[in-house]
Formats: sequence, C-alpha cells, structure tokens
Amino acid sequence: MSRIQVKNVLLVEDDPEQARLIREMFNDQGSYSFKLTHVKSVTDAEAYLQRQTVAVLLLDLSCCPDASGFEVILRAHAAARGASIVLLSDLEDEAIAMRTMERGVQDYLIKGQFEPRELMRAMRNSIARKILEETLFNEKSRAQITLECIGDAVICTDIAGNISFLNLVAERMTGCSLKEAAGLPLLDSFHIMNASTGEIAADPTTRLIGHSRINHLPVNCILTSRDGHQVFIEDSVAPILDGSGLSTGSVLVFRDVTAARALAEQISHLAEHDSLTGLPNRLLLNDRLDQAIAQAGRKGSLLAILFLDLDNFKHINDSLGHPTGDKLLKSVAQRLQACVRTPDTVSRQGGDEFVLLLQEVQHAEDAAITARRVLKAMKEAHTIEGRELHVTTSIGISVYPDDGMDAATLMKNADTAMYQAKESGRQVFKFFKQEMNDKAVERQSIEEDLRRALERNELTVHYQPIFNLKSGIITGAEALLRWTHPNRGSVVPALFIPVAEDSGLILPIGEWVLRKACTQARTWADAGLRPIRMSVNVSALQFRSEDFLKSLLTILADTGLEPESLNIEVTESGLMERAKLGIPILQSLRERGVQVAVDDFGTGYSSLSYLRMLDVDTLKIDQSFVRAITTSPDDTSIVSAIISIGRSLKLRLIAEGIESSTDLAFLKASHCDEGQGYLFGRPVSAEQFAHLQKMQVN
Ligand code: C2E
Ligand code: MG
Ligand code: MG
Repeated sequence: MSRIQVKNVLLVEDDPEQARLIREMFNDQGSYSFKLTHVKSVTDAEAYLQRQTVAVLLLDLSCCPDASGFEVILRAHAAARGASIVLLSDLEDEAIAMRTMERGVQDYLIKGQFEPRELMRAMRNSIARKILEETLFNEKSRAQITLECIGDAVICTDIAGNISFLNLVAERMTGCSLKEAAGLPLLDSFHIMNASTGEIAADPTTRLIGHSRINHLPVNCILTSRDGHQVFIEDSVAPILDGSGLSTGSVLVFRDVTAARALAEQISHLAEHDSLTGLPNRLLLNDRLDQAIAQAGRKGSLLAILFLDLDNFKHINDSLGHPTGDKLLKSVAQRLQACVRTPDTVSRQGGDEFVLLLQEVQHAEDAAITARRVLKAMKEAHTIEGRELHVTTSIGISVYPDDGMDAATLMKNADTAMYQAKESGRQVFKFFKQEMNDKAVERQSIEEDLRRALERNELTVHYQPIFNLKSGIITGAEALLRWTHPNRGSVVPALFIPVAEDSGLILPIGEWVLRKACTQARTWADAGLRPIRMSVNVSALQFRSEDFLKSLLTILADTGLEPESLNIEVTESGLMERAKLGIPILQSLRERGVQVAVDDFGTGYSSLSYLRMLDVDTLKIDQSFVRAITTSPDDTSIVSAIISIGRSLKLRLIAEGIESSTDLAFLKASHCDEGQGYLFGRPVSAEQFAHLQKMQVN
C-alpha cells in the first residue's frame, strides 16, 4: 500500500457556521490526505504556526478583526513560510482577493459558491503552484548569485538594445550601477573603442538582431569606464532566444584582459630578444630582415647587413670569467646601438656575434660609413669592474640585392665576408665578393675530404733535414705533413692546415703526426742511424688542448722515444696568443726533457719580455727574413738583430728556407747555429731521409 502523506491545513475562520461548513466538506470528501485544524484569528494562527508547519493556510479574508487587508496576507506569509495560501472571500471582496494573487496568494474561493470537490481541488492546485513558484524562485536566485559571483562581467540588453541587467563586475568595470543603467541604451554605459585605430566601436549587440549565433567583441577592444579608467577587454555577445527561437535581447560577457595581454607581450618579447643584452635575437632579426627585403624590393632601394664578431672575446671570457664577459657584451651592445639610426636593427646572434640591419641605404658606401663608426666606437676601452678591457671587431658586409635576394643568402655572405675580414688582420670591415664565396665553398669541400683523409690513409709525413751550419752534419728532421687527395693530387699544407685548425680536425691529425714521427725516430735509432732531434709542428689549438700533454707522454711511452729526442714547434703567434695559458704546458714539457722551438719567429711581434717568460730552447727564424738576405741585402740587419736576440736569450737559432749559398754564407758569418732549406734538402719520404743520413755517415 502506497503511503499517503497527510498534509496539514489550517483554517482561520471566526464564523463558527462557516467553520462547520468547511469541516463538513472535508468530512464529506472523506479525504484522508488532509488534516484540518481550525483557529479563530490571525493571531491564533500565528501562535499555532510557531509550533506546527502546514501545507495550506485556508484564510477567511473578512475574519480578521485584529488585522486588515493586505497586512493579513503579509502576516500569514511571514508566519507560514512554505505554505500555500487559499483565501475565502465574500463575493463583494472578490476584487481584493484577485489582487492578493499578485502578492503570493495561490488561490481564492467565493464563500457559498463552491462545492467540496472544488475546495479540494483549489487546495491541491495551490500546493502545486506554491512548489512551482518556489522552484522558479530558487532557480532565479541561483542564476543571480552565479552571475554576481563569476569573474566575468555580464550585461543583458532587451530587444530594443537597452540594458536590463548588469552584474557586479560589469558595474565595476563600466562604473555604472544597474540602477543607473537599466532601461538605457547599451552604449550609454558601455564605452568601447578600437585600440589600434582609436575609433569608437559600434554597439556589438545590434549586429546580433535576427541572428542566433554568438559574436565576438571587436579585436583590440578597450573599455573606458565612467571615471576614464581604460582596460583591454575580450569576449562574446550572444542573443537571448525565447521558446520559439526568437531573439528577445542579448547577453554580453567580457573580461579585463589587460594583465593577460601584458604577460603575452612579455612572453613574446622574451622569445624574440636576447635575455642578456635585450637586443632582438636571431628570430626577430630574421623576421625584420624578411620585411625589410620585401619593402626594399617594392621601393627598389638597398639594405645592408653588417655581421660582427669580437676578435678576442673568448680569451677575455675564459680568463676573466663569464660575469665579466657578460658585462662586456652588454657594453658592446650599447655602443652598437649608438652607432645606428632608428629604422636600423642591432641584434645579437649569440656568443660574441652581432648583426646590424641597415635600412634606407642609398649607396653601399653608407654601410661602410656605419662600419667605420662601429670600428671606431669599439676601439675605445670598455671599463668593466674598474678594469679597462679592449676588444676589436671584424665586420663583414652584404648588400641587398647585389649580394643576395633573400635573408639566408645575405646572412651567409655577410658571415663569409666577416671571416675574410678576420683573416686579413682583424679590426677591419670587408664587403662580400663572389670570390669569397668560391673560397668558402672550396674550404668546405676541403674540410669534408679532410675528415676522411685519415681513415683512407691519404696522409703521410715527410722529413726535412736540419743541419749544423758549421759542421754540415744533420742534427734533426722536421716532420711535415703531406696529403695526397684522390682527385686533387698533392695538397699543400698551407691550404689544408688552416682548415684543419678551424674545424678542430687538427687535434686527431696532429696526434697522428706526432705518433708517426716519434715511431719513425725510434725506428731510425733502432736501425743504428746517428741520433737526431725529431721536430714536430704542433698547432696552437692542439698545444693548449686539455689532453695534449697526456697524449704526448703516452706516445713517448708507447714508442719508447727519449723525450730529449723530441722537439715541439709552435708558431710564434700561436704561443703569444693567450701566452699565459701556455706557460705551465711549456714548463711540464721542459721538465720532462722535451724541447720546444718557436716557429716562424719574427712574424708574431713577440715582446722580448714575453719571450723571456716562455721556457723555450730554439728560435726558428722565419723564411721571409732569410729570403731578404738575397733579395734585399740592405735588410740583412733584421736577421742579424734576430740572431743577437737569440744569443742574448741563450737560445739555439735555426734559419728556415736557406736556398742559396749567399744565404748560407751570411748566416754562417752571423753565427746562426743551424739551418734547413732546399739548399740542403727538400722534405722527403722516411726511406729517402734514412738514405741521406747513411750517405752522410759514409
Ligand atoms: P713550417 O713549420 O715553417 O715548415 C717549413 C716549411 O717551409 C715547409 O713547408 C717546408 O717545405 C718549407 N721549406 C723548407 N725549406 C724551404 C726552402 O728552402 N724554400 C722554401 N720556399 N720553402 C722551404 P710545408 O711543408 O709546405 O709546410 C708549411 C707549413 O705547414 C709548416 O711551416 C707548418 O707550419 C705547417 N705544417 C706542416 N706540417 C704540419 C703538421 O704536421 N702539423 C701542423 N700543425 N702544421 C704543419
Ligand atoms: Mg715548423
Ligand atoms: Mg717555419
């Protein structure tokens, strides 16, 4: 059996006859779903309702001597929260009864004109209506609370475009309260404009009339509040549709995106700028370069790229530390910026590389003017942490459209020109020339082939004899690398050694030469040939590499060659570059008995004080000076000077490139110790060298 919930009904009736009639109706109806309680006044009803809850209040409107009219309804409402109210009215009071329906009364009955069945129906309907009303009320207040709580601003307009609702956020952002704005056109309170053009934007809701889709606010939209405060806003406008799908107004949802935009701008700034100097980075430069090329193409004008590299930055960074290096880069960045005009871009590519993009260039010479300005600005010392630092710059220039029609080509060619500038003595600028490109391509192909040369056994070592000038006896051999390329044939060291140095290939190749030469020297000694010094050329890069000493000692141990029989040749410029770093390596070599010669002496502008610091055995006088003996006898004073320097430092002197007997006679007279040159013998294979030595012994 289903359970029927009995609902309490409270009858408020002062007329006993009327009360009896009602009670009879309840009994007649045999209704067991209602339980009737009767009180005689509103005051009694209030007292009763303090203790009991009721579903229906059956209230005789005329029964209330202690209260009158609508006040009764108010009191009834207050006392019986949640109960539905059904009025019993006299016929003449029907108008009043009808009006109470607007004040939360659910139904009324005219006394004497209703049957028990109608009474029951009125009560049931009133309960149902009360439930519906409460549900609606709850939903509405939930929606209201939601709209007030969300972070977005909400404005609703009616079909005429007048404001019907503003939530708290909208009130705050527009500076207008709902009270002030209600019923007025949207644009009276909602002032928006296009941030890019500064134009007042149109009412976004009017575009929606007759449509059912969602629109968005204009992009770049700024809202100005009543007190003039401006914020960027973003979001949507949607129509409000009735049950039949017709528009009855619109709802505008928007939010303040000023902070989000600032953050997005900051992020994109970070992505496009170098964090150390704040200059545009490679990404932004490429973008600007593309735009500049397009513009120059349309206008038929020129633009120039200056590719800059600091010559000795790495040295400063290594020796003084990265924090100092960073400060120096910042100082360089500032100076570069001071050298260009507003439309130009100074960018940092990374490391110590910078690129200047010059726009509105009339003649290529304009780029040269800027390059000169940059060189001059960079020459001045940078004062970093109380220290005066000097950096010089090499600049390569490419010009659109002559040196390239696209960004990549222009950058590559400016880089190539920069490379040439560095090679030709630094602190200079060079315009790109097509031949440079050919040279760069050639260089690239040499590098690729050289990579494979070792494993393909294309490398060999030749040996040039070194003689004692007085006795004419062979005292040493200089190991000189030879490369037989499968297509090019014999490639001279002058062509491939610089490539090997740039690419780092000199490290494995140099080690290979060292091992080969030491093995050879050991073989000759074992074969009973007279002991000689084996001289091996070591490039500066190799000399300063971390494991140079370790690998040299391993080779000596492996081959069993006496350290005293090995002589390392490092060029003067190689030794002088970062000279201090070389001192401990030289010391370790000398402690173990390995000899060290300064090769190509006279070309590296060493200072004598430095030379004294460097622990070396031998100076090899560069060929260019020896050549001067025959070509310009007046210049022989230089050779004499070098020899006397060597003597004063107690160093062995070896003259290179002795080709004529005139050279030999002069050097002998000047007391030069040893010499090598075509006059005595060219570099030859190991077998030929052994043969030479044997001939001497015999
Ligand atoms: P270097 O060390 O000064 O070697 C002497 C160069 O002068 C050699 O050139 C030699 O063939 C050349 N030469 C000797 N006597 C005469 C002469 O009377 N007249 C003329 N015109 N030239 C003479 P090479 O073999 O072409 O080597 C050139 C340079 O390449 C060397 O100069 C050296 O700096 C470098 N090199 C050669 N082999 C190696 C190596 O194994 N490692 C490294 N790092 N560099 C090497
Ligand atoms: Mg040499
Ligand atoms: Mg030399």
